[in-house]
Amino acid sequence: MRPEEYSSHNDGEETRRQIMYIDRLKGHVSRLTDEIGRTPKACVVTFGCQMNARDSEKLLGILKSAGYADTEDEKDADLILYNTCSVRDNANQRVYGRLGAIKNLKKENRALKVILCGCMMQEQDCIDKIKTSYSFVDLIFGTHNIFKFAELMCTMIENPGEMTIDIWQETDQIVEELPVERKYSYKSGVNIMFGCNNFCTYCIVPYVRGRERSRAPEDIIDEVRKLAESGVIEVMLLGQNVNSYGRNLDTPISFAELLRRVEKVDGIKRIRFMTSHPKDLSDELIEVCASSDKICRHIHLPVQSGSNALLKAMNRRYTREHYLELVRKIRTAMPDISITTDLIMGFPGETDADVEDTIDLIRQAEFDNAYTFQYSKRTGTPAAGYPDQLSDEAMKDHFDRVLKVVQETARCSCAKHTGETDIALIETVSDHDPGLVTGRLSNNLLVHLPGDESMIGELYPVKLEECRGFYFIGSRTDRSGYTERETL
Ligand code: SF4
Repeated sequence: MRPEEYSSHNDGEETRRQIMYIDRLKGHVSRLTDEIGRTPKACVVTFGCQMNARDSEKLLGILKSAGYADTEDEKDADLILYNTCSVRDNANQRVYGRLGAIKNLKKENRALKVILCGCMMQEQDCIDKIKTSYSFVDLIFGTHNIFKFAELMCTMIENPGEMTIDIWQETDQIVEELPVERKYSYKSGVNIMFGCNNFCTYCIVPYVRGRERSRAPEDIIDEVRKLAESGVIEVMLLGQNVNSYGRNLDTPISFAELLRRVEKVDGIKRIRFMTSHPKDLSDELIEVCASSDKICRHIHLPVQSGSNALLKAMNRRYTREHYLELVRKIRTAMPDISITTDLIMGFPGETDADVEDTIDLIRQAEFDNAYTFQYSKRTGTPAAGYPDQLSDEAMKDHFDRVLKVVQETARCSCAKHTGETDIALIETVSDHDPGLVTGRLSNNLLVHLPGDESMIGELYPVKLEECRGFYFIGSRTDRSGYTERETL
């Protein structure tokens, strides 16, 4: 873990303001250090998606720049920050459950600061509940003003005993070049856009993350270049719908064009992106991916349902026929690609025939994997008001039927790579066996192979020897058996 440099010479007025607040926060942290006789520790906990994970890196970057050390142990922390998710109701319940436990920690350590941010905080019901049931929370802010974190920390510290709350309903601001604390030295997420304009009827994201805003391509390329200079070899371009990137810029550019520019950055060897909305996936994007040596052979393309009636009720704005045609085009252009998807089972009104349509689509698309979820009713979304909500029993039945097919399809898809040689980016030492490391292939499959910590962050040719369901046991090999397109 290492803090990236942040520059004070960029010309963003808001960036300069926030860097001033980071300096002010440093003064507060230094006084706290003197008081407690050691460096204070911050524990940042992320709920939810890759966008939240990237936001947490930014929040931790500010905390570390101000002088906090980081810890993963809440009991050991002087500051606990929950970066929340509200896509599913059980994510909200997990946060409330953990807050209940923190209440005791706060009794033992009166100086402990508790901070909540992220999607849940954009929901008024959550704020009301926290005010009444968890009044020990010190600071709450939302998704639109995360760049003000240092300023809000100063307000919180300068007003002890009060709950500082700052929630914005919208923003058109994108504040660049604040500190970031990357979790991995060799790979990094890069936000290319924020918010979503699609209003799928089950989804809370457009209400809590606001309308779509794309970052300028020069800022993205600049960030990728700096990441490459600091040793990053893989970037994941992040957005709620990367396929509509650039449409709202003064000089619009397509996502495919952005990828062409990212590809040219020296030092970057792998490029991933997520998430892709099928309605906006262009032929240009398929061409760019197919002709690239750097763009990974994996696309996550959430379909959600195989039933046209449900796709309409979800406001997904494509049909199963359109989706299957996209899959055909992608596989024709890149026969070695892995296609994964998301499925929501138990959406209001879902019938047996709809479930059969979804199963049929899974078989036709031959997904390499699918993340299957039970529909979660989110207050404030249109689908929450639909009359024909399913019983828990029916929802579970639909979910189980689909999961069975997904698992069969994924197992077959994984097994067909047995015996191949491919390149793996080594990511970790195995939790279960210190003599094994875990690598990720371009197609996103995992392989465990003998190795040690020194291999982390490097690309190695690997023979995929044994398929164990959804991952491989492999071994290092030399380049002679290697026939793929990636370069080491
Ligand atoms: S595209 Fe749909 S599912 Fe995805 S974030 Fe936007 S509204 Fe939600």
